[in-house]
Amino acid sequence: MTTACRACQAGLEHCHGALIHHAYQRDECTEPDCFAAHAAHDVHLDCSSVGCVCDEVLTGFGSAHRVS
Ligand SMILES: [Zn+2]
Ligand SMILES: [Zn+2]
Ligand SMILES: [Zn+2]
Repeated sequence: MTTACRACQAGLEHCHGALIHHAYQRDECTEPDCFAAHAAHDVHLDCSSVGCVCDEVLTGFGSAHRVS
C-alpha cells in the first residue's frame, strides 16, 4: 500500500505544500524549500485567509500617494 499521490507515482515535479497568493508580494509556499512551479501546486490559498493584510496596507499607502 502506498500513500503517494498520482503525481508522486508518475515522478512529476510538484509540491504538497500550499501556495499562498499575496496581493502585493511574491507568492510563497508553506514548504520552506519549495522549488516547484506555480501550477505544480494542488493547494492555493488567498493570503487574507492566512491572516496576511498586505493588500490592506498597500491600499492605504496608495490613497496617500495618489498622483493626479
Ligand atoms: Zn505527490
Ligand atoms: Zn499577503
Ligand atoms: Zn510549494
